[in-house]
Amino acid sequence: MGFVKSGAQQRAAGAGGGGLREEMIDGQRLVRLVRIPKAELHLHLEGSIEPGTLREIDPSLSLAEIEEYTKYEDFAGFLRAYVWVNKRLQTPEHYALALRRLALTLAAQGVVYAEITLSAGVILWKGQDLDAIYGALWEESQRAPIAIRWIFDAVRQFGAEAARPVVEFAAGARERGVVAFGIGGDEVRGPAREFAEVFREAREAGLRLTCHAGETAGPESVREALAIGAERIGHGIAAIEDEALMTELRERAIPLEICVTSNVRTGVVASSEAHPLRRLYEAGVPVLINTDDPALFGCTLAGEYELARRLGFSEAELEELAKASLRFAFAEPDAYGASGSEQAGSSGP
Ligand SMILES: [Zn+2]
Repeated sequence: MGFVKSGAQQRAAGAGGGGLREEMIDGQRLVRLVRIPKAELHLHLEGSIEPGTLREIDPSLSLAEIEEYTKYEDFAGFLRAYVWVNKRLQTPEHYALALRRLALTLAAQGVVYAEITLSAGVILWKGQDLDAIYGALWEESQRAPIAIRWIFDAVRQFGAEAARPVVEFAAGARERGVVAFGIGGDEVRGPAREFAEVFREAREAGLRLTCHAGETAGPESVREALAIGAERIGHGIAAIEDEALMTELRERAIPLEICVTSNVRTGVVASSEAHPLRRLYEAGVPVLINTDDPALFGCTLAGEYELARRLGFSEAELEELAKASLRFAFAEPDAYGASGSEQAGSSGP
């Protein structure tokens, strides 16, 4: 893990000091943050694969090559790096190995429940057998030390027609751990309004709905996501520019899946200090702490909580955020065990 992480931190520091430097973390405090039971709700399997695992998947790769191809300066470059990693995944076993490693990492971060996003749209685009790949993932998730459910993600810029088979497959896999459907990728080239029908079909099929929005585009993108029925918003940080939108998110209890380091690394915010997380929280908007693509961003979930602490959250507030992460899960409380259920029932959203 140290390989990409240290490089990532150096780049982040060079890009404006937004990265989380290990040497600045108080060890005992981090242990406390790790121990809080929490959920991770915005996490892409393909963005979690560390260089060592990538080399197991493709032994012909050198660490230098991996660093070269996963380097990026902006959001477009990040998407290219993400696609490059995706292309390394050729078989169901590759996906299963990625999940095995991720589940151990999550357990070590105090995660008791995770909703992991699978780029199902990319798997279909690659011409691979989604049924075989998801079968291997579902089997692997049964052996994981934490509870895992799945969000199937379609790619905005591929258009609504390409998203339809993703919804159909997800709907058919609800008995095997798929809880939700979402869209990600390029907000500008694939506006949410074009997915209204697809979202309606997903909802009617019993899937919950999430949508990346307001990450690289403005608050109108978040409004469009709400208009097509999104129940959680991936990122959504542009809401800070729109008072009425923040009021709507607060009153409807629609949470933003916040990923601070991700936003700094892709350059959509100038630095962690400039991130609107704290201001959104103070405006009463429900917020959740997540990593997004921990290997590509060189971050961990406990590290993101530590970053939130530095942005002004008290220990009690961080515990509140951890409880919120369980409460806003799409799965039924029994999916994440007794402790999760207690917390989920302890207070309303
Ligand atoms: Zn994401």
